[in-house]
Amino acid sequence: NKDLYETKLKTKNIYKSGMSTVQKFDISSIYDSILVITDQNVCDTQLNRFIENLDKSNLYKYVIEAGEESKSIDVYEEIMKYCIQINLSRRSAIIALGGGVVGDLSGFIASTYMRGIDVIQVPTTLLSQVDSSIGGKTGINLGKLKNIIGTFYQPKLTYINVNALKTLPDREFISGMAEVIKYGLIYDYEILDYLIINSQQILDRDTDKLNHIVRQCATIKSEIVSKDEKESGLRKILNLGHTFGHGVEKLCGISHGEAVCIGINMAFNLSLKKGFVDNDYYSKFIDVCQKYGLPLRFSGPNEKEVFNIMKNDKKNGFGKLNLILPTGLGKVEEFIQDYDSIEKDIIEIITMCK
Ligand code: NAD
Ligand code: ZN
Repeated sequence: NKDLYETKLKTKNIYKSGMSTVQKFDISSIYDSILVITDQNVCDTQLNRFIENLDKSNLYKYVIEAGEESKSIDVYEEIMKYCIQINLSRRSAIIALGGGVVGDLSGFIASTYMRGIDVIQVPTTLLSQVDSSIGGKTGINLGKLKNIIGTFYQPKLTYINVNALKTLPDREFISGMAEVIKYGLIYDYEILDYLIINSQQILDRDTDKLNHIVRQCATIKSEIVSKDEKESGLRKILNLGHTFGHGVEKLCGISHGEAVCIGINMAFNLSLKKGFVDNDYYSKFIDVCQKYGLPLRFSGPNEKEVFNIMKNDKKNGFGKLNLILPTGLGKVEEFIQDYDSIEKDIIEIITMCK
């Protein structure tokens, strides 16, 4: 799976394909070599279409196994060795073609190989198009510790084509919808109406509708991170539903998006209890989740276990829990609470969402 593309395959198509395509993809002349890192599923479904218009003479590929396990030191080391073997230089670039796993791993490799070479993100999952390919967070896992090794390293370019989403399995697509809903709640309330009105076409992966939502969410994400790259303030709003969701994601073996939705439901319930939001707003959230078949409740682990995992979230500090809560239409705020003072409330909320 590590073959060098044949030099002879230098494509003629690039000149036939129209200026806009050539301008978008004429990166072969900028870099001395390009390494495309992708995973097996994306290789099978997207790679050929993606490289169609690329000059093959200086193009290499590396295919990893699909899944979170590939964000490991072992895979990192293997790819680093491959970079050395193909003489990737400071004037080379890495293209991350895939979901967040490929994106995080490739970004980390690019940021550390020879002290940093260019990386281009080409996200192919909904989650990566609206979230992980924008903002420069890279990383790998160490054992069970997720993203514990990583860097902030901005891609030279993030190139998004929503047509890539047409081969994405339903479960992955729906999981990504949770992040889309999140953008509506943290930044632009109208997204929720758009998602409700156009749900069928979005579920059918209509290109125009997908372009509309992906463009909106990607723009919001880049606005947020351009104001707060290192997550010292504003960027934290992106964690809505994530602190609560963290526990159920780990304990229930559900998808990230499903856990985020359950987590947002918990955050909403706390906001309702505190009188920050009203029931009409909450009903809209419920409505949009139901349209996309996203869960609001979990079953299995007890509330204390879920709370303990929330406490271990690496985003907390100084023995306090950092929570992002809805406080108005398309608006959230950060609440930092002592574990002891909030425990009773949180346990009650977790119990309500079972
Ligand atoms: P993923 O990369 O594992 O992709 C999900 C599955 O879909 C994989 O099996 C993959 O092979 C397959 N796939 C991808 N694109 C496809 C396509 N177009 N057609 C068919 N199959 C396709 O998962 P993900 O949800 O994209 O990303 C999750 C990762 O992102 C986690 O490791 C998480 O830590 C990370 N993340 C990073 C950030 C960040 O800011 N860097 C933000 C959120 C999440
Ligand atoms: Zn997320």
